[in-house]
Amino acid sequence: MPGGIWVYAEQKDGKLKKVTLELLSAARKIADEQKEELCAVLTGRDVAGLAGTLAEYGADKVYLLQSEDLENYTTDGYTSAVTALVREHQPSVFLLGYTVLGRDLAAHVAQRLDTGLFTDCVDVRLEDGQLVFKRPIYAGKAFFEGVCPEARPVMATVRPNVLPVNPPQAGRTAQVIEVNPQPGSIRQIIRDVVRQVSTRPELTEADIIVSGGRGMKGPENFRLLEELADVLGAAVGASRAAVDAGWAPHSMQVGQTGKTVSPTLYIACGISGAIQHLAGMGSSKYIVAINKDPEANIFKVADYGIVGDLFEVVPLLIQEFKKLKE
Ligand code: FAD
Repeated sequence: MPGGIWVYAEQKDGKLKKVTLELLSAARKIADEQKEELCAVLTGRDVAGLAGTLAEYGADKVYLLQSEDLENYTTDGYTSAVTALVREHQPSVFLLGYTVLGRDLAAHVAQRLDTGLFTDCVDVRLEDGQLVFKRPIYAGKAFFEGVCPEARPVMATVRPNVLPVNPPQAGRTAQVIEVNPQPGSIRQIIRDVVRQVSTRPELTEADIIVSGGRGMKGPENFRLLEELADVLGAAVGASRAAVDAGWAPHSMQVGQTGKTVSPTLYIACGISGAIQHLAGMGSSKYIVAINKDPEANIFKVADYGIVGDLFEVVPLLIQEFKKLKE
């Protein structure tokens, strides 16, 4: 009996990340076609309450790794605990989100298992009984499709917001298996977690992102973007030029050396559309660009372009969106 199709159930502060539900939905289909069980791996402290949601979104089995050591993510602790579990049960596939945590954990677990890992995938499908992983290359200019015919489990990280979520099946249950995690020797000890207080959605999970570039002219003008973001319930991002100028923190940077995002709507304000920026947001469903240069590269990828001064356009957008909300 194969060890199943596995999904890493990422949670933060006791709340499942949306990408977990996206992975479960995709993995459910694979599990059904492969006639394997769909198992979720849930790590943390006091997270057992999430098992029900995982079941409703498709998990047949939930491996629950709970301990004080796993309350906060550490590469050492999570890698040891998750690797031991994989070694014991030998899944055929192991999917994680392409998030800060998922990227780190997947790389370390794959290295320990000496197995194949596809990163930053935008699609996973079954073809002739073989899983095909699709990922962007050359900063999003082309796509690569790969298979991993031998090494098991085949591992992949999948970009958040690219896979659809199936509706939950109320009342569906899963077998919950409590595992006594063996975190091994943990060299990193988290003494305190300092949180940035924000009521806005997390950049990589946001459905709408309003981003600013060098065209914002200064840090004080990001207030304008925050106002637009708050009307839309959006997150605020930035280009590297804006981050390098010290107008926005690096945590807001979108692009090759920043975050990869896939929102439904990306509004680029005063951003020229350099290839390194497009690498991080090119898979957004709808791109709106506001730029005073009609030749700006961003218009080549934009679904809707507004040629104009953002300091005139953005206040008008805020005004109109506010009216729509009333
Ligand atoms: P600019 O290219 O200077 O564009 C500013 C735009 O604002 C212009 O198009 C201008 O017409 C417009 N504008 C000015 N005033 C107004 C106004 N009042 N109203 C409307 N429009 C206006 N970049 C990233 O973003 N993310 C990355 O992760 C990243 N990684 C990189 C990695 C490497 C290895 C390298 C070499 C570069 C990387 N870059 C990255 C930098 C990238 O090449 C660009 O330099 C950067 O994206 C430019 O940022 P920008 O579009 O804000 O600025």
